[in-house]
Amino acid sequence: MNDLVKRGAADIAREVRAKRISAAEVTEAALARVDEVDGRLGCYLTRLHDLARQCARRVDERVAAGDTLPLAGVPLAVKDNMCLTGTRTTAASKILENWIAPYTATAVQRMLDAGAVPIGKANLDEFAMGSSCENSALGVTRNPYDLKRVPGGSSGGSAAAVAAFEAAVGLGSDTGGSIREPAAFCNVVGFKPTYGRVSRYGLIAFASSLDQIGPLARTVEDAALAYDAMAGHDPMDSTSIDRAVEPAAASLREDLKGLRVGIVKEFVTAKLGPEIDALYKRAYQELADLGAELVEISLPTADYGLATYYLIAPAECSSNLARFDGVRYGLRVDGADVGAMYEQTRAGGFGPEVKRRILIGTYALSSGYYDAYYVKAQKARTMFAQDFRKAFERCDLIAAPAASSPAFEFDSKSDPYSMYMMDYYTIPMSLAGLPALSVPCGYAGEPALPMGLQLAAPLFEEAKLLGAAHAYERATGYAAKAAPAV
Ligand code: GLN
Repeated sequence: MNDLVKRGAADIAREVRAKRISAAEVTEAALARVDEVDGRLGCYLTRLHDLARQCARRVDERVAAGDTLPLAGVPLAVKDNMCLTGTRTTAASKILENWIAPYTATAVQRMLDAGAVPIGKANLDEFAMGSSCENSALGVTRNPYDLKRVPGGSSGGSAAAVAAFEAAVGLGSDTGGSIREPAAFCNVVGFKPTYGRVSRYGLIAFASSLDQIGPLARTVEDAALAYDAMAGHDPMDSTSIDRAVEPAAASLREDLKGLRVGIVKEFVTAKLGPEIDALYKRAYQELADLGAELVEISLPTADYGLATYYLIAPAECSSNLARFDGVRYGLRVDGADVGAMYEQTRAGGFGPEVKRRILIGTYALSSGYYDAYYVKAQKARTMFAQDFRKAFERCDLIAAPAASSPAFEFDSKSDPYSMYMMDYYTIPMSLAGLPALSVPCGYAGEPALPMGLQLAAPLFEEAKLLGAAHAYERATGYAAKAAPAV
């Protein structure tokens, strides 16, 4: 392996700007790494060798012309539910298997404008529905720390690519945990900004009131750099927030003095077994050792998170996915009449989990059930926001597990409910729209597998959140204590 691929985004960009290395060299090293290991890992659904070389050349030209690109030459994995002009954009679904994006998502464009180089389109659970990448209709992604295990999901391809040095930064999308959980499973940092902070324009919609794009990277600093490049208002997304963004990469700190960190009383880690319980207790103690004051807080609604999310997300998905009808995008299976064409296209194009969600969502939105399910879930969602608002009167940040276990083996979650349970700790923050991240916090199980500490902040306090996570990462350095198996 060429050592260039091990370098992080901040380091690469600095060296490329200083013309000590070229974007072209870094790109060749990343592409060679993809050729070397991606046959075994399956992070990418589409490799973008030609485009990457073109972009790298352009970056080198811009650097030569004096542009100070914050992400100059940084190899980037793009989750394949984000549009990139001229590239296959599948959402890991048969229904979009051969669809070529006619435009580029704002978040992706901003990364490219900042000098990032797209290496490939990364695997995901179909339409981002899942927690393991096993719902991808187009490929299997393996966890770089143990090839028998899943990388997490739904942004599993991006997380695994970053962990295995096939990219320095990945883009993910998080609706109920899809950046944080795969980050935890793959020993990388995964950051979901405040809802509305990063434009959703060009992100294939799953649940529009929850979907949020964010970065995965091997360090907090790299995630902060990517966030700074992407965040900010976009007139093309009507839910994008028009409010100044505090640069996060400039807010990294070395200690947590003066910060109160809330530990959620209802998140009883003893339920997760003695080893994981001890691991999270140690993580909280490490925060305290850095100067944080730990305070107990309460989220009385915590146990209603899954029920609330698994009504709202499917309801929105059933509406969003109505557009895949064989007429406008992707797959068409012809039938005797237009009705038969719709039916056969959707029956053949969507996988089982996507169909399950469409059925649940359609049911929850149907007349007679709407008030009992959808409206009630919306009311519960308001309660989550209130719970957090109250909790944040007593603390600056919240610490919690990112997932209840390390990466599991393929096919080990046989019923949908046990898969949904993976999101128990991440969904509350999603329902409240909060910024939250996962940072490596140690290893558990046999073999020892990575675990993630979740940190969450009040709305728009991304800089404070990333700043604190940086202090934790610097003091503990768990990610650096193990190397992926490839
Ligand atoms: N695992 C959750 C789901 O299946 C979350 C997915 C996501 O955040 N995109 O819906």
